[in-house]
Amino acid sequence: MKSERIIVCSGPSGSGKSSLVNFVLKKEKKIGFAISATSRLPRKNEKNGIDYYFLSLNEFKKKIINNEFIEYEEVYSGIYYGTLKSEVKRLNNLNLSILIDMDVKGGLNIKKKLPDKTLTIFIKPPSINELEKRLRRRMTNSDDDISIRIDKAHKEMLYSKYYDIIIENDNLEKAQKTILDKIISFTK
Ligand code: 5GP
Repeated sequence: MKSERIIVCSGPSGSGKSSLVNFVLKKEKKIGFAISATSRLPRKNEKNGIDYYFLSLNEFKKKIINNEFIEYEEVYSGIYYGTLKSEVKRLNNLNLSILIDMDVKGGLNIKKKLPDKTLTIFIKPPSINELEKRLRRRMTNSDDDISIRIDKAHKEMLYSKYYDIIIENDNLEKAQKTILDKIISFTK
């Protein structure tokens, strides 16, 4: 397996992206998940250093000034997300290819910077209606949060055409097989 390959996985919140990412990580041990940093507060069940590195806005901004990110975005107004250089180094030292969950702007930026090393995958929900149902079922987001995420989903879908691969997540088993096959053939 070639090291230092980067797989970017994007898609609206509620598209099933996280469960597909977790499936890949369970099946393919030569791939490591890059834990992003964020200035948002943890949801219940989320743990620092596992789901995200949770930073205060000030801490996040200091790291921007110190040039500690390979990329970062203000994904929601006033809320930052980014991938730390130290995180990429940690996974490189373990000789792992890197899987990163990113918003569409971050994902396309990485592809532009490192086109040959990067595979971009967009996870598409079957429809916006289905997405809203999933977000409501998850119930970890407030109504306001849900409408912000639906709004963002509309915008994100417009960028999907620039991705190397689009996977429609209407059938979980089929989506799992597709994502695993694509990643294995890109990294081996
Ligand atoms: P949440 O976890 O709050 O539901 O949403 C996270 C959003 O931020 C998703 O669109 C996710 O892909 C994006 N995101 C997570 N980590 C990063 C990162 O390191 N960089 C960028 N640009 N976006 C990220």
